[in-house]
Amino acid sequence: MKEALFYKKLGSGIVQCELCPHFCTLKNGEKGKCKVRENRTGKLFSLVYEKPCSIALDPIEKKPLYHFYPGSKTLSLATFGCNLSCQHCQNWQISQKFIEKIREASPQEIIEMAKNVNSKIISFTYTEPTIFYEYMLDIAKLAKKEGMKTAMVSNGYINPEPLKQLLPFIDAFNIDLKGNDKFYEKICGGRIQPVLKTIKIIHKAGKHLEITNLLIPGLNDSDSEIKKIVFWIKVNLSDDVPLHFSAFFPHYKLVNVKETPAETVIHAAEVARKLGMKNVHTGNI
Ligand code: SF4
Ligand code: SF4
Repeated sequence: MKEALFYKKLGSGIVQCELCPHFCTLKNGEKGKCKVRENRTGKLFSLVYEKPCSIALDPIEKKPLYHFYPGSKTLSLATFGCNLSCQHCQNWQISQKFIEKIREASPQEIIEMAKNVNSKIISFTYTEPTIFYEYMLDIAKLAKKEGMKTAMVSNGYINPEPLKQLLPFIDAFNIDLKGNDKFYEKICGGRIQPVLKTIKIIHKAGKHLEITNLLIPGLNDSDSEIKKIVFWIKVNLSDDVPLHFSAFFPHYKLVNVKETPAETVIHAAEVARKLGMKNVHTGNI
């Protein structure tokens, strides 16, 4: 447990978290939407500091990052919790709950683990790294000192100030661009605008950026939705930002929706290429 970095005291023991666009206002003993930040006697704490729930060695392409040290392995880690509640979450067993009693690992121990498996990249992934911000930041700072690279695989639901303070310590980002605002509201429990802002800040900072769009049949896989995403990237970023279209498999609350046919993913990639995107990839097929 560690005191949170971004919050303010509102008086009468109430705090407001300023880490993500939910801006949760919490009384003593209350947890935020992410389930892993809690007001304890008028101070906000991260409950998952030094508490990874998943650690694995993955190919960098699994993040997916296809243009960042291809062929490398990356030590990948997550804690419990997420600030969105996507009905299709494939990691819902860890993103949508919090278990306090779990093996601890300090930032230094994570660096040692990476060295032991000869991984020169550490990735923050699986759930939403924003909600374990303090842990991620401390690991990333140590990683930089050791000459390692770092990657954040994120839903982009983070406020500009914490993002700006994190940027010097993260080399590569893969950000989900999930659908339109209605999709974010209905399926994910969020809004699209903060995500678009995050993507622009990362791109403007000159960081390595790739974008992923998971296609769910009937919810966000129409040509008009694909075109909207492609146009937004071309107008606001660049036509060479790597764009991944990925297939959905039934998970969590969307078990009644069929998996995405491979043809749908291939078609989306063709649409994006025809519109001039230079680095389009398909995944999960
Ligand atoms: S990080 Fe958690 S506690 Fe903070 S605003 Fe977001 S959901 Fe709420
Ligand atoms: S943002 Fe990612 S981890 Fe969080 S609920 Fe959605 S799919 Fe799951």
